[in-house]
Amino acid sequence: MADHIPKEFLELVLQRIDLVALIDARVPLRKKTGNNYFACCPFHQEKTASFSVSHSKQFYYCFGCGAHGNAIDFLMNYDRLRFPEAVETLAKQIGMAVPHSKTSEKALSFQHLYTTLDEAAAFYHAQLRQAPKAFAYIKQRGISEEIIRTFRLGYAPRGDTLLQTLGKTEEARKALQETGILNQKDTRFYDRFHERIIFPIDDRRGRCVGFGGRVMDNSEPKYLNSPETPLFQKGHELYGLHQALQVNRQLPRLLIVEGYMDMISLFQYGITYAAATLGTATTAYQVQSLFRYTSEIVFCFDGDNAGRRAAWRALQVILPIVPDHVQFRFLFLPDNEDPDSLVRREGKIAFEKRVTEAQTLSQYLFQTLMTDIDLSTVDGKTRYINAALEHIKHLPEGIFKNALLTDLRQKTRTDISLSVEKQSVVSTRPKTSSNRSSLLRYALSLLIQFPDLAQHVTEPIPSGIIPGTELFNQILEIAQQKKTLSTGTLLEFFRTQPEEKWLASLAQEELSLPQNGLLSEFLGAIHKMRKQIKAHFIQKMLEKAALGSLSSEEKHELNQLIIEKE
Ligand SMILES: [Zn+2]
Repeated sequence: MADHIPKEFLELVLQRIDLVALIDARVPLRKKTGNNYFACCPFHQEKTASFSVSHSKQFYYCFGCGAHGNAIDFLMNYDRLRFPEAVETLAKQIGMAVPHSKTSEKALSFQHLYTTLDEAAAFYHAQLRQAPKAFAYIKQRGISEEIIRTFRLGYAPRGDTLLQTLGKTEEARKALQETGILNQKDTRFYDRFHERIIFPIDDRRGRCVGFGGRVMDNSEPKYLNSPETPLFQKGHELYGLHQALQVNRQLPRLLIVEGYMDMISLFQYGITYAAATLGTATTAYQVQSLFRYTSEIVFCFDGDNAGRRAAWRALQVILPIVPDHVQFRFLFLPDNEDPDSLVRREGKIAFEKRVTEAQTLSQYLFQTLMTDIDLSTVDGKTRYINAALEHIKHLPEGIFKNALLTDLRQKTRTDISLSVEKQSVVSTRPKTSSNRSSLLRYALSLLIQFPDLAQHVTEPIPSGIIPGTELFNQILEIAQQKKTLSTGTLLEFFRTQPEEKWLASLAQEELSLPQNGLLSEFLGAIHKMRKQIKAHFIQKMLEKAALGSLSSEEKHELNQLIIEKE
C-alpha cells in the first residue's frame, strides 16, 4: 500500500465506498449481468459495453482495453488524480480526514477496540452469575448452561461497575466510549446496556464487534444494539453466524431469523444452522456474504401482517442478487409463534419439516402476486403478467431468471419474453486436475474473488514445487488477517507490485460456480496441490534411495510420507 497514508485507512475507505455508486455518478451504468454492471468503457473508444463493475468484488474491469482496479484506481484514471488526491476525495465522501502522521496510524489500528469489546463481553458474562434476577430470567427462558457459555451471554449491571472495572485509565474509558458501550451524559458516564441481558455479537471470525441488550421486563426499547462503530455495522453482521460456522464445516442450508432468542433457541434444539438479523430489515450485503457458505437460504418470518411485509421487503432486496447456485425459501410461522416458541413447543424434527416444506422464491412470488387477481379474465391475466415481469426484470440473467419466465408462461399460457442480453462467460476451471499450475491459478482466482475463503485454511502450501505458491500464501496471510476484505481492497496491497496485473486478470474472471459449494471446491484444490507436492517429495526421495544415498533419518521420513499418503 502507499507510503504515507496508513494502510488501515485505505482499507477502511475502500470498505465504506460503494464502487458501483462512485462510477455510476460519472459513467451511467445500466445493464446488469449477475453481480456485474456494464457500460461503454470510459477509457477507450467503443460501441458495445465491455466495461464491467462488480458490486461484490468492488472492482472494475474492461474486457476491451484491460483497464481495471478499485475505487482509488478509478478516480486516478477517470478524474486524473494522483494517488493521495484520489484517497482524499474518497475520504471526503465518507466524511473522514486522511491521516498522515505516525500517531494517527496508531490511532487507526483497531486492535485496542477489539480487546476492549472482548473484555467487556467477559465482564458481562461474569456478571450474569452474580445477578440472581438476570440469571433467573435466563433460566426461566429455558436457556441451557451450554448455550450461556457458547454464546457468552451476560448481564450489564446497574451503576458504574463497568466503568470501575474496565475504565480505570483515561485511555480505557475512551475505548469504551468508542465502542459505544459507555455513554456520557454531562460529566457522568453510564453503561449503555445497563440492566439488560447481553448478547455479544461476533463477526465471522469470532471477534466480538458489538452487543445486543434485551430488557427483562416490558419496558422499551425491548432490544438495544451497539451503535455503528468502525467495527460494527448492523447491516453487515448476522448474529450467530460464527457459531453456526464453528459447528458445521459445511452449511448446506442457512436459516435467517429475526431475533437473538430465536437463533439461540434453535441452536439449543439442534438446529445449528441459523443466524439472526439484528432487528433490522435484511440487507443485500448480509445475503450476498452468505453465498460463499451455503447453497440454500431460508428466510423465516412470523405469520402476521408485519411478517408478511418483512418477507416482501426481503424479496425486493434479494431479487437483484439471486445467483443461480443458491436457492431461497420463505417460511411463515403460525400466528403468535416465533422460532423460539415454536421449536420449544414442537421440537427439532417438526420444525425442520416446516423448513424443508417452505415455499420456494418462485412459489412465494407467484402466489403473492396472485392475491386479489382473477386469472380467468383477460384483464386479470394482463395485470398478473405485468406485475410478475416487473419483478422478474430485476433478476440477474441466468438459469433462474429463465426458469421463472418459463413458469410464468405456463401459468398464464402466454408467450412472454424479456429481452435478454447474454454475456460471454470465461471459465477458469482447470481442464485436468493433474495440471499443477492451473490448479494453483484456479485456487488463486477463488481466493482473490472470495477472500473470506482464507479463514478456512490452516496452513500455507509448501512452497518451491508449484510455481506461484509464495504469492498464494502471501495473499492467504493478508486475507486471514483482515475482516470482510473485498477483492478491490485486497488488490490495493499489490499497487505498483509486479504481480498486480496478473492478480487483476484473475480477479475479473467469471468462475463457473461449482455445484458442491465454493468452499469445498477451494479446499479440494488445495488438498490436491498438497497431495501433488507430497508425491513430488516421495519421488525425489525414491530417486535418492535408488542411488543408495538415503540416511536412516530420511528413510524414516520416506516411510512416514508413504504411510500418510494412503
Ligand atoms: Zn476499455
